[in-house]
Amino acid sequence: MMLEVQNIVKSYELAPLLQGVSFSVASGEVVCLLGRSGSGKSTLLRIIAGLERAEEGKVLWEEQDITDIPVHLRGFGLMFQDYALFPHRSVEQNVSFGLRMQNLPERQIQERTAEMLELVHMSPFAKRKVIDLSGGEQQRIALARSLAPKPKLLMLDEPLGALDRTLKQTLMDDLRQIIRNTRIPAIYVTHDQEEAFSIADRLIMLNDGKIEQVGSPEEVYRRPASLWVANFLGLGNTLPAKVISTTPLILSTSVGDIPLQDRQLSLHKEDELILLLLPEVAGMQINNLPRQKEPDNGFIHLQGIIEESIFVEGKYRIEVKIGQSTLHFISQLRFNHGESISISYPTGELQCLSRTRK
Ligand code: ADP
Ligand code: MG
Repeated sequence: MMLEVQNIVKSYELAPLLQGVSFSVASGEVVCLLGRSGSGKSTLLRIIAGLERAEEGKVLWEEQDITDIPVHLRGFGLMFQDYALFPHRSVEQNVSFGLRMQNLPERQIQERTAEMLELVHMSPFAKRKVIDLSGGEQQRIALARSLAPKPKLLMLDEPLGALDRTLKQTLMDDLRQIIRNTRIPAIYVTHDQEEAFSIADRLIMLNDGKIEQVGSPEEVYRRPASLWVANFLGLGNTLPAKVISTTPLILSTSVGDIPLQDRQLSLHKEDELILLLLPEVAGMQINNLPRQKEPDNGFIHLQGIIEESIFVEGKYRIEVKIGQSTLHFISQLRFNHGESISISYPTGELQCLSRTRK
């Protein structure tokens, strides 16, 4: 591991903020720290950068304890949401700032600056003042500036936060490519799950001062570890369930009894949990044919009424009233409001979440 963060504890005015946060970043890896506003993401970055001290815990770089090493000797690069550029200086002067601080020979400074401007596709703007650039262009300059001194680790704190939605989309792809091409390990902080999913090799989900889940975007999406993670990712298709039998495992829900096989769950009769259904999974079938009579192994059959159908990116996002619950799914087919439909959902794709946090 390149970076290791061990058991970081931090409070402000006696209010606990980070309560034992540990994670690591491997060589060339981009991890995304994802959590709501105010969850302590920026504080954690400042602690890693050395701008702030934790009450407990350590920061290690290549196995060396750097907890007491000052900021400028850590060699990490930071890019903030507000970019902190010098508005009245030129693009070139901004990008070369860190290099001048290192007292490098002029020729080297110029070469590296030119190289960085090329990397972020901003070479033609070298002489322009930062104040005369658009938000997206400033963002690229800020990135070039933090990359110029060849940081060992790049930390980006909501780098697209200040930009509007459409611009974000385009820049997200650029940013990912640029970070990947440099092969510098990076910690990318955001509260925006879309950004996190498109950039991260690994997601770190921060809630209530603790890490709820670490995993690849796919793992976190397909197997959210808690109700909080599921809700945060907008997967909120949840059904309260109660165990009515353990062998075989059968759950009672508002949409009927659901048998579950092959689960390594230590459940007891009467246990209450939450079932999570993903909006779109392989094998799921949605149609308006009459319900199948014979029980189908491996599927649960839900009957519902279409409450809403919205056309999104070539598919339909449908809201379906099933019993007392309204769930949403992605359908290839178009249905009408009020239409009666059947959903066959593969039981293997049902997730069980405990009602309370572990
Ligand atoms: P995030 O980046 O996830 O939005 P922050 O790390 O900025 O969260 O802040 C988390 C909480 O800590 C906020 O409620 C904020 O008010 C508080 N906080 C941050 N820095 C300080 C400080 N220097 N003094 C007191 N409280 C602070
Ligand atoms: Mg922040």
